Amino acid sequence: MRFEEREAGLLAPYAFPSVASAGRRHPEPSHSYRGPFQRDRDRIVHSAAFRRLAHKTQVFTGSWGDYHRSRLTHSLEVASVARTLARTLRLNEDLVEALALLHDIGHPPFGHAGEHTLNECLAEHGGFNHNAHALRLAEVLETRYPEFPGLNLSSEVLEGQCTRATKGAANPLRPLLEAQIVDAADSVTYDTHDADDALELGLLQLGELLELPVWREAAQRVRTRWTALDDQELRRAVLHELIDWQVGHLVAECRQRIAAHGVTSHEEVRQAPLIVAPGAELAEPKAELERFLYRRVYRHPRVLRMRARAQASLREMFDGFRERPEWLPPRFQARLTEWGLERTVADYLAGMTDRYARRAYLRQFAGQD
Ligand code: MG
Repeated sequence: MRFEEREAGLLAPYAFPSVASAGRRHPEPSHSYRGPFQRDRDRIVHSAAFRRLAHKTQVFTGSWGDYHRSRLTHSLEVASVARTLARTLRLNEDLVEALALLHDIGHPPFGHAGEHTLNECLAEHGGFNHNAHALRLAEVLETRYPEFPGLNLSSEVLEGQCTRATKGAANPLRPLLEAQIVDAADSVTYDTHDADDALELGLLQLGELLELPVWREAAQRVRTRWTALDDQELRRAVLHELIDWQVGHLVAECRQRIAAHGVTSHEEVRQAPLIVAPGAELAEPKAELERFLYRRVYRHPRVLRMRARAQASLREMFDGFRERPEWLPPRFQARLTEWGLERTVADYLAGMTDRYARRAYLRQFAGQD
């Protein structure tokens, strides 16, 4: 069955059908059996930038162990939650998956610490933001096809990523539900998994989390099902419960908001208030959990030490390559005229994985090999 027929039978009226796509910047013939967003998803998965997420920091760098999330596993978890939401709400699952797998592709090495440093380095040159850099990768930096630069993704995938990059800016139009879903799935996963990773690394104790209302309530529900769990079993069961609870809550909340606002098409989604967001009873406990994670995990002395080291080496590399652009790989040197020295150096540094950046620093700047 072709994707148009399959979607016609599956999608809700407020979903975005693939046949409505505005297409690609560089027109391409349609594929004989893959829909446009399925192709976008495949292009993202096969890109070099996506593979490099395996060795980029989510919150904790790879050298800390093998249990915790990398940017790659986080992106897969976001896609998993987002697809569940999309399928349940009968949205365009291919579009959702493409957006989820693309959403963090623009992260430089060392996560937000690296982003912060590159943004400072580019203060006079347009700044650096991981969401905007994802668009730059998708439109310029990935070179996979002879006919055009970038991945030539569908307009709706680029637009969904663009709404992330311009968040907070006055935009009269809402993102499609497919893009709203990915934002919500991102929040469901990092709130849960950052706590899990911090527990595993010993930065947090289970008892501290169980004092937070959202963890306490989830634990109470788990204990009504199993009465004699040890700490490890309780932790795993609570993590499952937290994800299941949030996803179930979002589905109910979305259905209620779609009905309340009378949304019956993707055009009406654009004009309606935000649909995919937790209701007040979950939003506040989630915000409290996020404040706790910020204080106790993202600002943990061990994390701050890692940040400081990473930022100093990235800053030194930025200054070093700026002084000696002849040290840049030839394909980056070839971009200097078009994009300027600072942006090109940042493009090179942002593409590095954590370990590549560490090695490059030791080799070229610390005189070690
Ligand atoms: Mg994310």
